[in-house]
Amino acid sequence: MSQSIVEEVRKALETHGIRPWFQPQYDTVTGKLVSAEALARWINEDGSITPPDDFIPELEKTDAINALDWYIAEEACKTMQELQGNAIPIAVNFSRRHVQEEDFSNKLTSLLLKYSIPRDLFEVEITESALVNEKSNILQWVGKVKDTRVKVAIDDFGSGLSSLQFVKDIPVDVLKIDRSLLSGNCQPEKERIVLESIFYFANRLHIDTIAEGVETSEQLGFLRTCNCKRIQGFLFGKPMPKEEFIKLCQTGARKKTDETDILSLQSPASATQLLLSAIFQRYPLVIFANLSRDSYYMMAYDNFTAKTCSSSGSFDRLIEHGSTTMHEEDREAFKNTFSRSNLMAAHAAGVPEVSLIARQIGDDGVCRRVEITDYFVKSPSSNDVLVISLNSNLRD
Ligand code: C2E
Ligand code: MG
Ligand code: MG
Repeated sequence: MSQSIVEEVRKALETHGIRPWFQPQYDTVTGKLVSAEALARWINEDGSITPPDDFIPELEKTDAINALDWYIAEEACKTMQELQGNAIPIAVNFSRRHVQEEDFSNKLTSLLLKYSIPRDLFEVEITESALVNEKSNILQWVGKVKDTRVKVAIDDFGSGLSSLQFVKDIPVDVLKIDRSLLSGNCQPEKERIVLESIFYFANRLHIDTIAEGVETSEQLGFLRTCNCKRIQGFLFGKPMPKEEFIKLCQTGARKKTDETDILSLQSPASATQLLLSAIFQRYPLVIFANLSRDSYYMMAYDNFTAKTCSSSGSFDRLIEHGSTTMHEEDREAFKNTFSRSNLMAAHAAGVPEVSLIARQIGDDGVCRRVEITDYFVKSPSSNDVLVISLNSNLRD
């Protein structure tokens, strides 16, 4: 049985009975068509279609899958070449068996050269289960593929058993979030928390994200609040034959993405992110300090007018340095108000906050009034004296 499928697939590749269909991927916010995935389809003589799940698992038992993947990759390159100026990046699925393919990177480079495809137009998808099954070689393999300057995506992320440790170490460009993580309306609180956490860490690690299998506008609305970058799913577009895909790229169609009121889907974690943005807008310098341990770090300071201080370090030194940026008549007041000993004494006396308006010389040499307010905050896990310092420039 399996032998005959392998043989039939080999013939179908020769006669182009198997070919890629293309599923569009859209920018989550703008609804713009930005990329696509090539998906194998077996078109039978009677026009019926055999889906990949009916033949790929069988091919994956042997190296027979490699021929199919390279064939789809080549067809994807031909399509991009035909699209010329309208070409968008296309992702191609590569089975985990390619991790054992010695000259994978060289083959890929030759293919891209053959069709003059710019490197940033090609994306290699490798399924998450490969991270587990090919553990010892995968880091090296991904590194080599990345050396060719094409992008690497982890497919079906969240469906398998890969550890976060691995995601931290592997230098991938894209995470494709598996559709099994999304329920129809994204309402269950636990589901939201898990998804938000994935997007949060991916964004912090500067890894691009795609949500797969998006079928409802509720899912889309929620994914927008999570800052998911791209959307792939039946809501926007099913996999389609090459000719249809080429037309789609040529017309540059855009999907409407604003059907859902984002507030109806807003979750506490994403609302907190927005709240922080508002705070940073109002207070361009925000410092978090632990007075008990003489430490601080700046939560926001990029937009402040004086930023010669280091972004973290000793609180005493911060005040020492800060005083040198003050107008000379305000230096003593600044030091007295914000010295660690005086702040600790104020805290011990039950004062909720300490505030001062002083004149400060900005990096541009201009003197401005700044308002500095240190709020004492309580950590749930420590008795240290903590302070959040909100700083803003006052308009004269
Ligand atoms: P995949 O790479 O995760 O591809 C996404 C699958 O989700 C595709 O199924 C796509 O049609 C389906 N999908 C996309 N949006 C939606 C949606 O909104 N709802 C639902 N229900 N499904 C959606 P498809 O084309 O049947 O492919 C299944 C799997 O077969 C692929 O999953 C991939 O693992 C494998 N595959 C497909 N083509 C190739 C190939 O050329 N090489 C290799 N090695 N594997 C391939
Ligand atoms: Mg895929
Ligand atoms: Mg997938």
